[in-house]
Amino acid sequence: MTSHFGINQLQQQFHLETDVLMAAHTRLNVGGPADLLARPETRRELVDLLVAARNASVPVTIVGGGCNLLVSDQGIRGLVVVTTHLKSGIQTRPHSGDPVHLFMEAGQRLSTVCKYAVTRGLAGLEFCAGIPGTVGGAVIMNAGTADQGIGNRVYSLDVLDLNTLRIHTLKKEKLTFSYRRLHLDHHMIVGITLALSPGDPARIKQRHEAVLFRKQHTQPMDLPSAGCFFKNPDPDRPAGKLIEEAGLKGKTIHGAQVSSIHANYIVNLGHATCRDILALTQHIQQQVLDRYNIVLETEVITTGEGMTNE
Ligand SMILES: Cc1cc2nc3c(=O)[nH]c(=O)nc-3n(C[C@H](O)[C@H](O)[C@H](O)COP(=O)(O)OP(=O)(O)OC[C@H]3O[C@@H](n4cnc5c(N)ncnc54)[C@H](O)[C@@H]3O)c2cc1C
Repeated sequence: MTSHFGINQLQQQFHLETDVLMAAHTRLNVGGPADLLARPETRRELVDLLVAARNASVPVTIVGGGCNLLVSDQGIRGLVVVTTHLKSGIQTRPHSGDPVHLFMEAGQRLSTVCKYAVTRGLAGLEFCAGIPGTVGGAVIMNAGTADQGIGNRVYSLDVLDLNTLRIHTLKKEKLTFSYRRLHLDHHMIVGITLALSPGDPARIKQRHEAVLFRKQHTQPMDLPSAGCFFKNPDPDRPAGKLIEEAGLKGKTIHGAQVSSIHANYIVNLGHATCRDILALTQHIQQQVLDRYNIVLETEVITTGEGMTNE
């Protein structure tokens, strides 16, 4: 159980925001209050905060852009660290060899990095065009398309060990990425070095724009969502196709709806609660199980008080 004494101690020491609605920090616009919320701007601030949280026995939850998060209506106990202010621009790092190394802090927006790569004629990130959120969140989620993830472009990561609270660098050989996942428990990403290849600027721009255009015309962009809600159980059987074939497009539970544009998107009609979204999730999973004997796993990360799948 979270200590109120610890919360007060931390709040006073760092002048943190209290009882902040997580709905304002998630793309689904859903989620109750976080006891404390901090937006550190430097690694020093981040580490000082986490050391103090540990000393005060306050649990910590890391949030990036909140684009892949479903937070419970009861909210999050303890301290939420939002990384979006942890950024210091994009730097080209000296490197002898063909790939060009780009370094950025974890809170940098992925879309900014994609545009930076396009303007500098660097190939390899075009498939990430239109994916919202931070680069740290994208790397943890191994964000991308059905056939590739950003993990393929990672050269190294600066990570904060949440046990020792020390930062060290992990080269790509030490990292294991799989579909929508980097296997890295008890660590927070603080910096990322990507390896991109110089290419024909006009063709890179064309590929970037083609991906953006496809996304804008096949996915619901006008209502709050968390992107694709379920993982594809198999590349030949995308979750969206199974849900659509089960006749669930447009299925609505209170404020939560299966998008009529893309069936793997659950959208917030404006007044959805986490409870509505969970009820719709369970309905979809049950229908797909009954019809195809396939268990749909969520791609979206659920967190907060009362959630079991954290
Ligand atoms: C409209 C829309 C379209 C989308 N399209 C795509 C798509 O095409 N492909 C795709 O893969 N995804 C897509 N997504 C999902 C989402 O954009 C990605 O998963 C994104 O990379 C999440 O980044 P984030 O910063 O928002 O992470 P968050 O949602 O804030 O966090 C996701 C997880 O990462 C953890 N985390 C975040 N930052 C760090 C860090 N620095 N260190 C350690 N852990 C961290 C959090 O604790 C959480 O468990 C889409 C989402 C939306 C809303």
